Amino acid sequence: MDQIRLLWEYQQADMEVSKMENSIKRSPNRQKLVKYRDYLVSQQNVMKRIESEVSAMADRLEALKDAISMTEDQYKALKQKVESDQATDAKAVQQLMNEAKRFLNNLTAYEQEIKRIRKDAADRERLQHDVKVRAAKAKAEFDKLKVAFDAEYKEKTVELEGLKAKAAELAKPVEAAFMERYEAIKRHSVPPLAKLNGDQCTGCNMSLPSAVTRKIKAGELIECETCGRLLVIL
Ligand SMILES: [Zn+2]
Repeated sequence: MDQIRLLWEYQQADMEVSKMENSIKRSPNRQKLVKYRDYLVSQQNVMKRIESEVSAMADRLEALKDAISMTEDQYKALKQKVESDQATDAKAVQQLMNEAKRFLNNLTAYEQEIKRIRKDAADRERLQHDVKVRAAKAKAEFDKLKVAFDAEYKEKTVELEGLKAKAAELAKPVEAAFMERYEAIKRHSVPPLAKLNGDQCTGCNMSLPSAVTRKIKAGELIECETCGRLLVIL
């Protein structure tokens, strides 16, 4: 059998291998798995963000509690000062009262902030709960799909191995120079060989000059000037 015919037969087997590889890659189960995985990762990131927000809130609450107890102490000291009648003139009394008012205003502001933080924290807790429920549902779907995909993958891998073995067998009698040319064309055009049909390349359907078709018919190895495939007559 001539080299071109051997190469053509190898190409049939090689294309079967590619088809099976693509079928594994493009499996709807696999694509759904990738989607679920991406979703789970995004939900994990949401959880992480919430956790860091909640931890920042807890820190702020601690700081506010400290500020409140400090202000309360200051307020108490001020009250004692007033009660012990240290301030005699009206100006000094006014000053003390202003100070007391400032402490009370601060306390109110701290307490309002605490209330706000507690509400935010409760909102986040609800959000955390929702995210957990959604993620758990997605994880269950993911696990179910994974079982189906694994079975499908196993089956297709066995088939793929068979197709690869067949292609390897058909590659054996092909001379190295022909195989190298095949692989080089395959990098830009698949399949690399195209039959000549009249004056047309069946790879890209372009017509070839008659001088070229004559050469091909005479047995010359010529690549299509449009798609680069090796033109063959079998
Ligand atoms: Zn072509």
